[in-house]
Amino acid sequence: MRKPTRRTETGRGERVVPGAWRLRLPLPLTGVPHCNAWALAAGDGVVLVDCGMDTRGSLRDLERALEQVGLALDDVRLLVCTHAHIDHCGQAATIQERTGCELWIHPRHEHLTAALDDRDAAMARRIEIARQSGVPEAPLQAWAEGRREQGTGMSGPLRPARDLLPGVVVETDLGPWDVYETPGHAPSHIVLHQRERRLLISGDHVLGRISLYFDHGWTPDPVGEFLASLDVVDRLDVRLSLSGHGRPFTNLHGHVEGNRTLVRERLDGVLGALVERGEATAFDLLPAVYGERLMPETAAWLLTKMLCYLEPLKLELAVRRVDAEPVRWAAA
Ligand SMILES: [Zn+2]
Ligand SMILES: [Zn+2]
Repeated sequence: MRKPTRRTETGRGERVVPGAWRLRLPLPLTGVPHCNAWALAAGDGVVLVDCGMDTRGSLRDLERALEQVGLALDDVRLLVCTHAHIDHCGQAATIQERTGCELWIHPRHEHLTAALDDRDAAMARRIEIARQSGVPEAPLQAWAEGRREQGTGMSGPLRPARDLLPGVVVETDLGPWDVYETPGHAPSHIVLHQRERRLLISGDHVLGRISLYFDHGWTPDPVGEFLASLDVVDRLDVRLSLSGHGRPFTNLHGHVEGNRTLVRERLDGVLGALVERGEATAFDLLPAVYGERLMPETAAWLLTKMLCYLEPLKLELAVRRVDAEPVRWAAA
């Protein structure tokens, strides 16, 4: 999670197509200024897809965005989350409490819920991984200190009523939405496809502005899973994609291609840096691959991605892990 920044915006709502509204909710995160929730007309109310992070004023932002399009929180009949990241499910507990609605989410949400169940253990685990990856002690402690002072971004525990898996259908006035599993960005990630209207709610799997992130440590090869999940959405007939951040976009295929290219560039970058430098820790590789000065706000995020890029390279036998303290990597 990135460092909180001061919020300057409020929630905004706009109609995307008849019966579907974008609710743009501000986020207090460096580099991620807002996220989207989607309201879909369903009988006498709406299905809400994603709901934003729990932070000061966040419920008011959601209510304001709904009001702008003539809706209210009490209209929510069902909450569906594309994945278990706090900017997508953070307010679930409050919304369920206020409306009595059910929450549907993919069952592989332990990448979030394990940390909520035992925050200290999750923190200790992250610190150990960072240390093993070559992060120097002083910035590591400073980062850990900052993290301890932050809230969880969740208004309460996740209490899903139903596992959001293929075969489950989300019924709306626009028609039924089918569930496709798309792990990679997060193990719990799904997308929703409305076939007749050729609409896709793509969550953070495919964004309008290409930006990669993968959860590390829950599945063997998040990057490989992400690439396979790109193939899944590439096969769907889609006119308009409604993503977790940014504006709705057309040309899903072009965005899928852009993601594939960027992943390949990153993998090549990691391998190239190892060929050039010889043995290096994951942390040492960050400036070589990202070509930017590391900021405390983004270093943890980049390191997580770096660890994910090393996995497929290891599986391809392009790199090998040198078991040392800290762990080093070398081109094979
Ligand atoms: Zn996410
Ligand atoms: Zn997100």
